[in-house]
Amino acid sequence: MTPTADSYDVIVIGGGPAGCTAAALLAEHGRSVLLLERDLFPRFKVGESLMPGTYETFARLGVLDKLNETAFPRKHSVQFYSGSGRASKPFYFSDNNAHESSVTWQVLRSDFDALMIAAAADKGAEVIHEASVHDVLFDGDRAVGVRGKFGDGDIREVRATVVVDASGQSALISRRLKIVSTEAGLRKASIYTHFTGAQRDSGIDEGATIIYQTEGKDSWFWFIPLPEDRASVGVVGDIDYLIQSRDGDATAIFHEELSKCAPLEERLRRAEQAFPMKVTKDFSYRSKQVAGPSWVLVGDAFGFLDPIYSSGIYLALKSGEWAADAVHDAFESDDFSAERLGVFGPKLNEGMEALRKLVYAYYTKDFSFGRFLRRFPECQQGIIDILSGNVYADSVRRIFGPMAEMCELPEEITL
Ligand SMILES: Cc1cc2nc3c(=O)[nH]c(=O)nc-3n(C[C@H](O)[C@H](O)[C@H](O)COP(=O)(O)OP(=O)(O)OC[C@H]3O[C@@H](n4cnc5c(N)ncnc54)[C@H](O)[C@@H]3O)c2cc1C
Repeated sequence: MTPTADSYDVIVIGGGPAGCTAAALLAEHGRSVLLLERDLFPRFKVGESLMPGTYETFARLGVLDKLNETAFPRKHSVQFYSGSGRASKPFYFSDNNAHESSVTWQVLRSDFDALMIAAAADKGAEVIHEASVHDVLFDGDRAVGVRGKFGDGDIREVRATVVVDASGQSALISRRLKIVSTEAGLRKASIYTHFTGAQRDSGIDEGATIIYQTEGKDSWFWFIPLPEDRASVGVVGDIDYLIQSRDGDATAIFHEELSKCAPLEERLRRAEQAFPMKVTKDFSYRSKQVAGPSWVLVGDAFGFLDPIYSSGIYLALKSGEWAADAVHDAFESDDFSAERLGVFGPKLNEGMEALRKLVYAYYTKDFSFGRFLRRFPECQQGIIDILSGNVYADSVRRIFGPMAEMCELPEEITL
């Protein structure tokens, strides 16, 4: 397929959660929107566990009923295992908020992303799959459109008043403008796959995310229950430790780490691997700007922290939503400056900073949530809030003073 017009109000590059949210809400605002997605959906994608904080954006997109109809496991909590195999009590999101929004989903991304892109099309965005954007076109420092390859092999230029970059880790604009900073303290790699037939907990714990530290704390695993008796399982560690210092292939490394994680090994004893291991690395970075003249960045195209707290999709949805409102205001005031389009940047950055501090705490070898909460029980609410995606709550701001007494927190990054 090729675009039906030569020019649009907005072009959104990438049909992941961030791009679909921005495209859907801008189309709802009455803008002409072209959403260009490189892949043909459905396709595999990692990043399957949601935070309850996604609820409000789903409500705005009108997809809650569709999500409720799916077989995606319901996620009520997160649970952490220490390297010695000791389990924390699950952190139940409903402990702070008994509303239905405190239960979220573990999603098969192939189905979830298809649902999201259908929502963008339903709201009126023109969606084209197998449309790979090669370049963003600039007139001086102002974005004016894109050049891309469409399904028929045609290379075409399409113009727009605003370009929203939602290209995920490709981060087309920030890499081209060389405004990306990688997070030196978080140079991680991950090896992951799906299993069928893994042992599950029962009742409201059946859909929980479980995080397992390995003996020696050099790596950790996620266990995310998925539909049809599948589970997503992945290991994360420093690139040097996990990949560069080893001779074996990804499968051998995965099993070597698994052998240092008895409770997960037990859970997977009768499970079968569903497809070959996948590997990804160096995924923590942030752009120095969230917007420029006639362009704006959302989701991973702006930045990504770390998989540990499942915050990626939450931040993708929030930034997609805030960017859509900023772009709408820009059209209303005929002002497409960086200041107007990036008005949400400081708030997005503040949320990322809170999560980032918690990421560094997790990677501090002698820090544990159990010990932290035994010493500062008044921080329980703040921890549940941040794990829920309620990252702007006052309770969250109050945890970092006490936390700094038990581990070194990173210097804040400002936009
Ligand atoms: C190991 C690992 C585990 C993770 N686990 C979780 C988790 O459990 N929970 C969670 O919330 N997050 C998790 N994440 C992060 C999560 O996957 C991302 O934050 C989320 O997908 C970001 O959404 P997005 O829309 O910004 O980007 P994406 O979902 O990456 O979507 C970008 C889209 O842009 C398209 N695209 C790219 N380049 C082009 C181009 N040139 N032209 C056209 N289209 C293009 C891609 O095909 C893709 O569909 C994890 C990440 C990693 C690395």
